[in-house]
Parts: sequence; structure tokens; C-alpha cells
Amino acid sequence: MKVQTIMADLERKHPGENEYLQAVQEVLESIEEVYNLHPEFEKAKIVERMVEPDRIFTFRVTWVDDRGEIQTNLGYRIQFNSAIGPYKGGIRFHKAVNPSMLKFLGFEQTFKNALTTLPMGGAKGGSDFDPVGKSDAEIMRFCQAFMWELWNNIGPDTDVPAGDVGVGGREIGYMYGMYKKLAREYNTGVLTGKGMTWGGSLIRPEATGFGALYFVEHMLAKAGKSIKGATVAISGFGNVAWGAATKATELGAKVIAISGPDGVVYNPEGMNKEKLDYMLVLRASNRNIVAPFAEKFPDATFIPGKKAWSIKCDIALPCAFQNELNGDDAAELIANGTWCAAEVSNMGCTPEAIATFQGAGILFAPGKAVNAGGVATSGLEMTQNAMHLSWSAAEVDQKLHYIMESIHAACVKYGTQEDGYINYVKGANIAGFMKVAQAMLEQGIV
Ligand code: GLU
Repeated sequence: MKVQTIMADLERKHPGENEYLQAVQEVLESIEEVYNLHPEFEKAKIVERMVEPDRIFTFRVTWVDDRGEIQTNLGYRIQFNSAIGPYKGGIRFHKAVNPSMLKFLGFEQTFKNALTTLPMGGAKGGSDFDPVGKSDAEIMRFCQAFMWELWNNIGPDTDVPAGDVGVGGREIGYMYGMYKKLAREYNTGVLTGKGMTWGGSLIRPEATGFGALYFVEHMLAKAGKSIKGATVAISGFGNVAWGAATKATELGAKVIAISGPDGVVYNPEGMNKEKLDYMLVLRASNRNIVAPFAEKFPDATFIPGKKAWSIKCDIALPCAFQNELNGDDAAELIANGTWCAAEVSNMGCTPEAIATFQGAGILFAPGKAVNAGGVATSGLEMTQNAMHLSWSAAEVDQKLHYIMESIHAACVKYGTQEDGYINYVKGANIAGFMKVAQAMLEQGIV
């Protein structure tokens, strides 16, 4: 495989799809060496087939806002790869959603899902619908209109969407209601992240953040360090940030920063139950600002226009959006003494940031390993739905623990360099790739 040739070809076919090209390049660069040891992969053109989604659905979503005005948005579902299981991945509602963003997410999802040890293919969907400032009724009407188009292309053994940025339990509820009406079947397994009384799994809301902290614990233990007493800066304040802040606090760390598009909240005293609960209130308000946190809790200070990475911390956890931590941010963190960074958002760090962290020899792990607990618990939700029963929170949490431990072990197996440094990016990419590639090979030219 020649990474440059494949990338040049992709750039020609998909000009300007920067996030997608960035995600593919990162994976190809890290698997190149291993790939070239497998002429059977080369012969079957595994990489050339794997970098393109199996299919993309694009549709118009028209709905009526509270003023009675007709609105039209774009909707997408990208079914990326089904080599190891039905398509699986979240739905993102954000004004910047476009095919490039969803292709990068679907591509990443394929490897992430492979890492979970569960049989799930990769997919992603979404819309450029902007939930900020929308009423509950508007969100319901939009979700219904979105599902009206999508329902026929999904199913418990076909493609199983879930939440992502802008899509949480409320949105999944509205989409499921419409799906059920159209399909005339109570197919609980068609969506994950459902409510607890109608097929949702306990621990699913917490799973991405909890899983991330379980992964970080393993990473630190391997390096002979502990999270107890460490200071943690988190970007974002949504569901993922909330789960990460909750578990970090429970493990004895001090979460000293959370952030939003409006700025960062410096929280030197750390979190407590009241503050963590308030994060959920902030997210549900649909205003997308973090400043009210500092108004409610006077021990915290709001710094407008600044990122979480401007706060001195031991551990940095990007929990918001892709490319939210760049090379300059990484340099600032390192200068301030940060010794660990783990992406909880998908592709939260730019390639320059990753190179800066790795170059400085600090602990760094990529999103597809760190945040895989979310989709893994979705996989556990699918299993419970297929069996028509529900497990206790302790049982799900224990399985989540085991999965995160396995993912960490796979990263160590494939990512340990000769000098002893563990390249978690390489480890995660190779481990995920090998599983998908082997399945594609065995299933022939399809
Ligand atoms: N959107 C989440 C992710 O990026 C969860 C996907 C799922 O549960 O299917 O992995």
C-alpha cells in the first residue's frame, strides 16, 4: 500500500472533505507497516474498499417551526462498513453537519466498534438541524420528520442508530415513537440510548464518560500513575462531559474546568453532586452556553472566549467536538505541566496536537479507544433487547469495565514501540483494522 497514492486518489474523488480525509490519513499511516506484511490484504484491495462507505442516504427533512414557518434541513445516514455486524453508530444534529463530517465519523466508528469486542459494523447519520434555541415541540417535530425518511433503511439487524452531539435520550424517544408508528412493530433493538422504561440499558447515559475514565485508569496504571488527586480539565458540558466529570470525581480527581462555545468555567474546588446535576440542566436548556454555571456556583469563575486548555491541569479530556484541541493548545498544556491527554470526543485533537503530545512523550490515547464505552454499551443494549430482558446496572457496568480493559490491552499489544512508549493511536488503529480486514477477506469480493 502506498498511503500517498491512496490519499491522492481520495482527495481527487472527494475534494474539500477535510475531516474525512484527515481521519483516513491517520488510520492509513498507522497501519501501513502491518498492512504491508499481509499481501493477501493488498491483493483483495482491502484498504481501497474500506475507505469508501458502503452507501450514503441523503434526504430532505421538512418540518414546521413554532411560528408556523416551513423549514427544510438535510438528513443523512452513512452505512460505512458491515463486515463484522449490522451498521451501528450515532446521529448528530449540529449546524455544521455535512457529508465530510459524517464520513469521518462513520469511518472512525467502524474501527471503534471493532475494538469493542462486540459484533457491530460502522455507520453515522445526522442533520444540519441546529437544536440551539429550539423548543421541545420543534425538536419533536424535527425528529419525527427525520425518522419519516429514515425508518425504512434501519432495523435491529440492519442498521442501529443512537445518539451523538445534539441527540440524547429525548431525541431518541421522539425518533423511536415515529419509527414504531411507521413500522408497526415494537422493534426495540432498532435504536439505542432509549428510555429506561422502554428498552434502554442502565448505564448507557453514563457509558461514554465512565468507559473513558476506566480506559484512563488502565493507561495510568500501566504508566505507574494514579488519577487520585490529579486535576482534570474537560471541554464541553454535555452528556459525555458529564459522564467523564462524574466518574473522574468519583475516582478522586478534581475536575477544575468545563467549557462551552462561550468560554471556560474555572472550577478550582472541583465537582460535587449539585454541580454535576447542574451540567445536565445546562445541556437540557438548549442554549449551548456554560457561563450560567459560574453564576450558580460562586466558587467557579467564567472566562469568556477561552478554551479548557488554558487552565493548568494534569489530565486533559476533550469531550466536545472534532479538532477542538490544536497544536498550540497541546503546547500550552505541556508547558503548564499536563502529563496525560485522552480524546473522549471523536478526533478531538488535530494531527499537530497528537504529534506534539507524542513528541513530548506524554500519555495520549485516541477517541476510538477512549470513547468506545458508549457504543459498547449500545451493543449491550442491543443484546438485552434481542433477549427481551434487562440487566442490572452492576452487570452492565461490569461488562463495560471488561470491554474497556480489553480495548486497552489491544492498544498495548499493537502499539508498544521498541523504546517502550505505547503509541495508543497506532495500537487502536491496527487492532480495529485487523479485525475488519480479516472479516472482509473471508467474505469475498462484495
Ligand atoms: N455516538 C457515539 C459514538 O460516537 C455512540 C454511538 C452508538 O451508541 O451507536 O460512538
